[in-house]
Amino acid sequence: MINKSSLNSIVLRSGTYFSVILLVTSLLSTSYIQNSKALVQEDHEDYGYLKFAAYAVKQAYAAKQNNTVNSTTHIPAIAVGPKIPAKGYLVQEIRDHLYWVTDGMYNSMFLVSNQGVIVVDAPFTIGKNYLKAIAEVTKEPVKIVIYSHAHMDHIGAANMFPANATYIAQQETATILKDHNDTGVPAPTQTFSNSYTVKLGNQTLILDYKGVNHERGNIFIYAPTQKVLMLVDVIFPGWVPFRDLAIAEDVPGFIKAHEQALSYPFDTLVAGHLTRLGTRADVVTQMEFIKDLKSSAINATKMFANFTKIAGQVGGFSNPWLVFKTHDDDVANQCAQTMLAKWNNRLGGAEQYMSSHCSKMAESLRVD
Ligand SMILES: [Zn+2]
Repeated sequence: MINKSSLNSIVLRSGTYFSVILLVTSLLSTSYIQNSKALVQEDHEDYGYLKFAAYAVKQAYAAKQNNTVNSTTHIPAIAVGPKIPAKGYLVQEIRDHLYWVTDGMYNSMFLVSNQGVIVVDAPFTIGKNYLKAIAEVTKEPVKIVIYSHAHMDHIGAANMFPANATYIAQQETATILKDHNDTGVPAPTQTFSNSYTVKLGNQTLILDYKGVNHERGNIFIYAPTQKVLMLVDVIFPGWVPFRDLAIAEDVPGFIKAHEQALSYPFDTLVAGHLTRLGTRADVVTQMEFIKDLKSSAINATKMFANFTKIAGQVGGFSNPWLVFKTHDDDVANQCAQTMLAKWNNRLGGAEQYMSSHCSKMAESLRVD
């Protein structure tokens, strides 16, 4: 049995609990960055697990073509993108000399002007194929490189571009890169705080920072002539986000970024992942997903609000972690069940990451 003062002490301990979680999360992200760094530095031709993941996507396409689709390779039609040629990448003009490059896992874009090329990001799964993609469509040299944010998986191959190019990033991104010295990518030579207009010859890109979302320093990159918006690691066209709401650094900011994206009059979205380009409808769909996720997490949290009952099930409060873990798992399972009933066939990867999204949302509702 549990008395009221024990319950209060449990609530107090929950503060410690969240601090530990934050510590573990930050340690994990540091080691992730270090691992990415090691991959970048070791060898650009060997992209480790990300290359393996890109290979797995190709295998899934092959399985589909050979009618050997099973429950793990099945994805809804909305998640299917263009076929990636055997050379390992696809480059396509979106419009008015703005191109996207993809390997089926990662994507980015470059803009060709009459005075050189502006590149956004350099995912290391695409690596030097990016240079081949540019060479397929223009002889102009790369003059400007923009970093969407500081994550190495999106910019880790940037040192393949000319050393004398201008490298642009939001201040926070520059700070992160400086703090993680030895990233192997060129340091930004031009930074900005809120807004920056990039002009090169006859082409323009507008860069905006609206606060922390997926990561501090993550920017909106808008091509006004082409009506194309690039926003990385927030919207996942055709798919649920990568685990834990795409490891969002700030969940409220991540949610807000959806409406901020729609404030641009764009037609086409370059989202950084996964299989295809996006549209405004993809942003609206993900907003609906997030709204459902929030209400499912709230309902599940209410359902398992009785900690005394949970403690009774696990033999008391002597191990508070066990009580909290049981509670969190119950909430995540209940929320995931509700969500999958609606979303399993609407977006790719729902089964794989739903539980993590439920946990992340429930945690955000507690602490943010
Ligand atoms: Zn990222």
